[in-house]
Amino acid sequence: MTLAADHPASPADPSLDAALDGAGHEGDGVRARETFDSLDPGSGDVLRTWPVDDREQVLAAVARARQASAWWREQGFAGRRRHLKAWKGVLARRMHELADLVHHENGKPHADAILEITLAVNHLEWSSANAARVLGEQRVGAGLLAANQAALLSYQPLGVVGVIGPWNYPVFTPMGSIAYALAAGNAVVFKPSEYTPAVGAFLVDAWRMAVPAGPDVCTLLTGLGPTGADLCRAGVDKIAFTGSARTGRKVMAACAENLVPVLMECGGKDAMIVDDDADVSAAADAALWGGMSNAGQTCIGIERVYATEAVYDRFVAELTDKAARLRAGSDAEASYGPITMPGQVQIITDHIADALARGGRALTGGGASGAYVEPTVLVDVPEDSAAVREETFGPTITVAKVRDAEEALERTNATSYGLAGSVFTGSKRKGMDLARRMRSGMTSVNSVIAFASVPSLPFGGVGDSGFGRIHGADGLREFTRAKAITRQRFALPVNLLSFERPAKLTDQVAKVMGLVHGRR
Ligand code: NAD
Repeated sequence: MTLAADHPASPADPSLDAALDGAGHEGDGVRARETFDSLDPGSGDVLRTWPVDDREQVLAAVARARQASAWWREQGFAGRRRHLKAWKGVLARRMHELADLVHHENGKPHADAILEITLAVNHLEWSSANAARVLGEQRVGAGLLAANQAALLSYQPLGVVGVIGPWNYPVFTPMGSIAYALAAGNAVVFKPSEYTPAVGAFLVDAWRMAVPAGPDVCTLLTGLGPTGADLCRAGVDKIAFTGSARTGRKVMAACAENLVPVLMECGGKDAMIVDDDADVSAAADAALWGGMSNAGQTCIGIERVYATEAVYDRFVAELTDKAARLRAGSDAEASYGPITMPGQVQIITDHIADALARGGRALTGGGASGAYVEPTVLVDVPEDSAAVREETFGPTITVAKVRDAEEALERTNATSYGLAGSVFTGSKRKGMDLARRMRSGMTSVNSVIAFASVPSLPFGGVGDSGFGRIHGADGLREFTRAKAITRQRFALPVNLLSFERPAKLTDQVAKVMGLVHGRR
């Protein structure tokens, strides 16, 4: 890190710069500020220098968001939908620009970035279109004991939500929290990953362009871990964290100091089960995409495959053949890009080396050149090795032969993670049965990652993969508190909740309860 006096403005273009000027990401412009660089992961070149927001700036951003949250709440569902639609319009119109930024900072191909942004825009649409239906006040049954009451349930915004994002899907992932938190009526303070600050700044700049009346409803902080830690301690009403389980534990500890609730979207070690009667070609194709697109840096990517004896040889041959045709690079024809975090290359190659040292074989790949890791298919890898147990986050897949789908499920579930997974089978019944028993928040039958493109389905994990949900109705409710109201419609002749109730009344209640509930 270096010290600098300047405060870079928005990266996107002059009109976005103008929209950001002096508000969204506030700098003093005078005092020397600590800075960090965002890098092109392929070349290591510095893309841009960014300020490290300190505690004071974090507190100021949360205070501005707090003030803006009142205005945002007053807009109601219809007003918020209008503003969110305007934001969605800017993102959809400037998709290629944003995809370029994603390509430069994260390294993934431009076309993959377009797909990522498409999903995010889709979620923005769904969350804003469905917020009133899911969260708006509704009457619920009052029950026998309160038959004279009208019972009303609504979901109210929390206030200010801090969103701490990762770099691997720098648009789609934070948008799962930001869009749903905003649609639910909260203001958001967003701290993107230090590896993808320009993508975060673009999203917030686009907000300011689309909603000039509420610039502080969605604001930006830039910085490293300590800025995120400061956000946890800045008086926000919830933290939505996406990142590794290791950092998640630190975030929870910081939030525990002030009983700030947390949403944890952490890592995974997702598996695919390939059953006897599966379409082996389709399974190999899906495993390849699930495991190696985005250079394998997908929290819900496929890192392990369990194929039954009946299909193992065919599956391995197809997967290896397809994998050998992939190529890592930063050019337009490359299948996937570089590893985004420089330090991760060592972890990936360590997992491969450990697997090979313990009897595993690399049927293709196994090496790395700079930030580019070869597509790697590993077989005969012991189940207790790092390549099978820990999140590798690289373009590697282990394939193991199992007796049957039951053994595959047993091994799939033998992990501390539980984010997602996939089942390939020719039987609808068996596919559904395996999916239901898979210990994960999400499962796709005969595809990979499909659930992420269904906005009405919740997204999140179990165990070390975290808790809480983004997306869908659950994702909207995640950023609210339930509010219960009873309104007395008429007074009962006798009131149980009064010192003036007749002495024998509770005996009569007990008798009725015995008749209604005590017959068996
Ligand atoms: P990370 O844990 O290193 O960092 C995530 C974010 O936390 C960054 O913005 C970082 O600056 C911030 N941070 C670091 N230390 C902090 C602290 N002490 N307090 C507060 N914030 C702090 O993760 P990453 O490398 O950016 O992301 C990769 C991980 O994210 C993988 O494990 C991946 O599986 C996971 N992920 C999960 C999901 C999901 O939805 N479950 C989605 C995408 C990525």
